[in-house]
Amino acid sequence: MSLSKNISVGVLALQGDYEAHKKQLQSLAVKAREVRLAGDLKNLDALIIPGGETTTMDKLIDRFKLRQPLINFCRSKPVFGTCAGLIMLSKKIEDNQSGVEPLGLLDIDVLRNGYGRQVFSFEEEININLGNGKSQMAATFIRAPKITRIGKGVKVLGEFKNEPVLISQNKVLASSFHAELGQDTSLLRYFLKTFASG
Ligand code: GLN
Repeated sequence: MSLSKNISVGVLALQGDYEAHKKQLQSLAVKAREVRLAGDLKNLDALIIPGGETTTMDKLIDRFKLRQPLINFCRSKPVFGTCAGLIMLSKKIEDNQSGVEPLGLLDIDVLRNGYGRQVFSFEEEININLGNGKSQMAATFIRAPKITRIGKGVKVLGEFKNEPVLISQNKVLASSFHAELGQDTSLLRYFLKTFASG
């Protein structure tokens, strides 16, 4: 399957690490559009929800009246969430003191900062299997969420210390780590080829 460049991919740009995702899309010559308002979702083929701060992202989603449009989009089109994006896509946040309301599109529970706070940010090799055998990739964890429950329909595509860090369900792909910070576009290419082509 080849990578279709005629697709337009939105990046939720309310807050957080959206520029890095845009740069990666542009490096693959894929059209990238910042999404802030419901109308920005129109005619997009896929969406990326970046890392950032879930408490702020959650508030801005409501302020920009994006909650239902986002849920509707993510039910039918491919979505890739990284770090805070994974938290927003989850069904339940454990110990949810900030009262963040996740979008409920991935049948997982998560614990925010489950791998430690900023001081514990780290880069490690993780084990992945994207359907073409086992391999390793470098992953950057920044106050990353831990996935504490996985529903039946969720596939585990990557693990760190035997815990899931890269998962998919239907057309949703999500990682606890940041996949967009370096030159390695392999996960983005996997997302586009597997979920967003044709
Ligand atoms: N710790 C952040 C949160 O819970 C997520 C961190 C990130 O996206 N790198 O919202």
